[in-house]
Amino acid sequence: MLATPRIGTIDTIGALLHRGGSALLRGLLPASCALCAAASGELLCPACAVQFFGAEAAVVRCPCCANPLPDSAQGQLCGGCRVEPPAFDVTLVAADYAMPLDQLVLQLKFGHRLALATLFARLLRDAVLQQPGFTLPALLCPVPLGPRRLAERGYNQALEIARPLARSLGVALHPRLACRVHETAAQSSVAPEQRRRNIAAAFAIPDAALVQGRHIGVVDDVMTSGRTLNELAATLKRHGAARVSNLVFARTPPH
Ligand SMILES: [Zn+2]
Ligand SMILES: [Zn+2]
Repeated sequence: MLATPRIGTIDTIGALLHRGGSALLRGLLPASCALCAAASGELLCPACAVQFFGAEAAVVRCPCCANPLPDSAQGQLCGGCRVEPPAFDVTLVAADYAMPLDQLVLQLKFGHRLALATLFARLLRDAVLQQPGFTLPALLCPVPLGPRRLAERGYNQALEIARPLARSLGVALHPRLACRVHETAAQSSVAPEQRRRNIAAAFAIPDAALVQGRHIGVVDDVMTSGRTLNELAATLKRHGAARVSNLVFARTPPH
């Protein structure tokens, strides 16, 4: 007798899913904003969306590496990119990697909260579409994880972001355009002076014909020093890529 209502509930949810009633389901299940925990039908409540991703939160950034610049430097390269131009051409980000948004990234990366990847993709798509004069890449490629890290985590967070991003931009996705040829320590766990050596020759392009003469969009969750993205862009360029644009959810601001 006790089991009857539970079976009924499962049946109801199953029927809703079967009819594609995800909007209705969202209304039935408790949901809260990932940032402020306010009740919200979306992962980000309207107040947080405005506070962290609205026009007021927009920052002038170096078009090449996305480091923040003073408002007067709109459209100019930062000093670092002028002195030592990176292998990539453009970097677009949705936010700075700082409190409280860094918590979302950690939840996606280490907390298995995969729904956040869809949110990151939507915010990144908005950043891409709001960027004046940005040409869409021909192909998107996630920053690959090494086999050991992929096995430990069970998913590549960059690929989880790249999938919905590719769909919403109407750009093809190639999950294995690039691969890791040797397992590297996480850049964050390596002393800054050893990071260049840690990431050197980390990537390979199994099918260079896919890359030749094309504009490749590289997707990742976080950009810190930019060395990983630089190494991947250099590898893509060595295999004939015409242009490399990084599409990254969050950028660590310089200290
Ligand atoms: Zn909120
Ligand atoms: Zn720069």
